[in-house]
Amino acid sequence: MNEAALLDSVRDGLLIGGHWRPAADGATVDVHDPATGRVIKTVASAGIPDGLAALDAACDAADAWAATSSRTRAEILRRTFDLLMLRSEQFALLMTLEMGKPLAEARGEVVYGGEFLRWFSEIAAHVPGRYGANPEGTGRMIVTQHPVGPCYLITPWNFPLAMATRKIAPALAAGCTVVIKPAALAPLTTTYLAQLLEEAGLPPGVVNVVTTGDPGPMSQAVIADSRLRKLSFTGSTPVGRHLLAQAATGVLRTSMELGGNAPFVVFDDADLDKAVDGALLAKFRNIGQACTAANRFLVQRSVAKDFTRRLTQRVRELRVGRGTEPGVTIGPLIDDKAIAKVEQLVGDAIGRGASVHTGGTRIDGPGTFFAPTVLADVPSGSALLREEIFGPVIGIVSFDDEDEAVALANDTEYGLVSYVYTESMARGQRMIERLRTGMMGLNVGAVSNAAAPFGGWQLSGLGREGGDEGIHEYLQTKYTLTPNPFA
Ligand code: NAP
Repeated sequence: MNEAALLDSVRDGLLIGGHWRPAADGATVDVHDPATGRVIKTVASAGIPDGLAALDAACDAADAWAATSSRTRAEILRRTFDLLMLRSEQFALLMTLEMGKPLAEARGEVVYGGEFLRWFSEIAAHVPGRYGANPEGTGRMIVTQHPVGPCYLITPWNFPLAMATRKIAPALAAGCTVVIKPAALAPLTTTYLAQLLEEAGLPPGVVNVVTTGDPGPMSQAVIADSRLRKLSFTGSTPVGRHLLAQAATGVLRTSMELGGNAPFVVFDDADLDKAVDGALLAKFRNIGQACTAANRFLVQRSVAKDFTRRLTQRVRELRVGRGTEPGVTIGPLIDDKAIAKVEQLVGDAIGRGASVHTGGTRIDGPGTFFAPTVLADVPSGSALLREEIFGPVIGIVSFDDEDEAVALANDTEYGLVSYVYTESMARGQRMIERLRTGMMGLNVGAVSNAAAPFGGWQLSGLGREGGDEGIHEYLQTKYTLTPNPFA
């Protein structure tokens, strides 16, 4: 399918109660290809009445969906996975068009994002309960799990498919209905996924999609509605904090997958070839626009020059361009704001004395491109070391010993993921215990996996997505006591 035919086959309305329709006030929002700056589609922009109508639909469908057998829910998820695999090229191209990642990476996201559908189809029928005698012997304790109820899911633009399936699949597996609000910058993949769920036989109202260019008022109204029972958000820490405050009124169950500031630590006993491979993966996947992107490269002084030289050589080989072109490994950043932020962080580090080994500047348009960059000797105090870069920039800092590496790595209020390269098993084990992050890559540069509990410590969030843990974010526990039947 060519680009135009693919974009034509994506609905441009809101999905509410099984009907595709425009926003109540007719508002729309344009979606751009960041590689060209051109508008590729215009979609409905939901307002407060649309958000509440979507919640009505999720509430109307809730009891019937909760009452379906877990096997039925599992089979719908599995069918959606099978359909996604059949349409993997369309989904990959759509992601490349709406947010710019190279096609090869978009194909990788179809596999990763699809895996949440398959994983939770397998988990759906395996939710455990407990039955046992109380310690006094006077009764029997029964512990059961129940869907939390209607959920509001808010996702970011950087992984348009995986962030949606990572929430929708466990919610559906648990028996919850949802309203999902994708990011305005890349909403098309979520809409296309909803079309796939319909095709797989999902009943109307179980998944409702509200695209919008003005998320604040609508979200506030949905979150304030006492029928909503769960808010799951992936995005920046400031917005997450703001939404958590809103969720406090209704004492909502919340999952917050927020920002990161991942350290990438290379010890002098590391295999440097593997560390360079890992660094490229941890930094440049998604053009550096990942919450798990390595943000600070901490390298032991005795190997820092060698590591920087090898890494710079590889970074110079990366090919920048539109993600649909063969051989391109670095696409555009999402928009001008992202370019301005990266420029400001790089300028600040250089102004403080960091040395530029390659890159360091934006690339002339059309499109929002930034040259893959390596900066060494980044001085402490640089904003680059404190803030999420969200762009293709490596900043290297040297350290002398393990204690200093740990102190530098933990010197952040975030705690999503860390990467450590060492050939010493004992040192690796010490780092597992000493680094304050919810996830760690030990001699690997990418950790995400549908079967693993993804999530952060500290300001990186609350709760876990994926793994056995993921479904429990959408379940609530009931304990029942009955008398000892033999008494
Ligand atoms: P963002 O600005 O926080 O937006 C995330 C989502 O929240 C979007 O759908 C956005 O809608 C919506 N939003 C913004 N303001 C809102 C409000 N007042 N009320 C309700 N919704 C609102 O983040 P982003 O720039 O899209 O994504 C990048 C951030 O996400 C980074 O910090 C990254 O680390 C984080 N992230 C974390 C994970 C993780 O799993 N921990 C994964 C991926 C990304 P609009 O698009 O319409 O603004």
